[in-house]
Amino acid sequence: MTPRKLRRVVLLGATGSIGRTALAVAGRHPERIKIVAAAAGSDVAGLAALARGTGVEELVVADAAELDALRSAAPAGCRVAAGSGAVVDLAARPDVDLVVNGIVGRAGLEASLAAAAAGKTLALANKESLVLAGELLMRTARESGGLVLPVDSEHSGLFQILHGRPREEVARLIVTASGGPFRGWSRDQLETVRPEQALRHPVWPMGPRITVDSATLFNKGLEVIETHHLFDVPMADIAVWVHPQSVVHAVAELVDGTLLSQLSAPDMLLPVQYAMSYPERWESDAPRCALPDWKSLDFEEPDHEAFPALRLAYRAAERGGTAPAALNAADEVAVAAFLDRRLAFPAIVDVLADVLERVSVVPADSLAAIAAADREARARAAEAVGAHAI
Ligand code: MG
Repeated sequence: MTPRKLRRVVLLGATGSIGRTALAVAGRHPERIKIVAAAAGSDVAGLAALARGTGVEELVVADAAELDALRSAAPAGCRVAAGSGAVVDLAARPDVDLVVNGIVGRAGLEASLAAAAAGKTLALANKESLVLAGELLMRTARESGGLVLPVDSEHSGLFQILHGRPREEVARLIVTASGGPFRGWSRDQLETVRPEQALRHPVWPMGPRITVDSATLFNKGLEVIETHHLFDVPMADIAVWVHPQSVVHAVAELVDGTLLSQLSAPDMLLPVQYAMSYPERWESDAPRCALPDWKSLDFEEPDHEAFPALRLAYRAAERGGTAPAALNAADEVAVAAFLDRRLAFPAIVDVLADVLERVSVVPADSLAAIAAADREARARAAEAVGAHAI
């Protein structure tokens, strides 16, 4: 057996669901993965527990007010730091090969850019990095010799399918969508949806905002934008198929009409592990996927009438620049208002449409431009929430 190189890994968002899955991969492959540093937003207890189990050398908490708490909770000999700047510094640590970014929200963007600029391999689960700054991130990685590897199941599926295939052989890419809890509902029926219904996803357990985004299909729109940047394919050549079983994660249609797809049980272990093992494949404890057990796999076109958020994402990406950042910020505001029972479920998309129509769009070529677009969109979204309030 050839000796394997030990990969030195930084884990960002270490106490969230992606972070925990990455830790499980590291625990399964200790001869291949060494977690050298880990960061979390504010979960000091979670970070300290992680360090006791793994021998991590450095812990960082993004919330600067938690530094003292982290200092007293961390095991002896473990270095500690606090603040969002310290998280970004971790992403560029010179003695690290791989950065797993499982940070939720805009806070993950700066760390992604830092990892890409430092030429790291970035295993990316943070959506905002590609939705808000896809061109900037991919260009930064290209120029520094870094690599961006997708962690989301659909993008991991596409990455596995395409695997070095020349771009000119690919006609279009298809990402699948479970369709969420309201698949088959009419727009009228959707008027009655309450937050507790939207928070119950049939396949994937996730945080509240992304669960609501899956119910509106807005999440799938964001995933199409991510696909566009990751694989350098025009939005018009990316489609969505609703597939409630979530076994087929993605499909590539080649120029001769062949369809290639990636199938696996709906479980995040596999996409997380593949981003950490690439270009190798390692054994895993992921649930196996015996197709006869599934009896049938169903596919349908999305219902754009009942779920117009998907088309809005296409429109935002076609406007380009800061438009996707504005749409994403507006969605955060609208989903919060819905969960707060100030907005009906279909009105989430009405708010998005209003904001997308009104915001100014500039090139998304700096963090400052993106932050300004985010601020403007939030203000416009708050007005739109007022206009559409129950
Ligand atoms: Mg997904």
